[in-house]
Amino acid sequence: MADKDQKCAHPSCICRAAADSKYCSAFCEGASDKPDITCNCGHPGCTVGA
Ligand SMILES: [Zn+2]
Ligand SMILES: [Zn+2]
Repeated sequence: MADKDQKCAHPSCICRAAADSKYCSAFCEGASDKPDITCNCGHPGCTVGA
């Protein structure tokens, strides 16, 4: 599959980015300077390592 659907730019996030954003949510946009932390955007299935 091609990566046509852009992943959220947060390294720890597995969500798909919003069509008009590099991120899936405001959480990821704000957390992008702390890429080590687990994504906590709240989307189901996106709590890596929790
Ligand atoms: Zn996420
Ligand atoms: Zn995200």
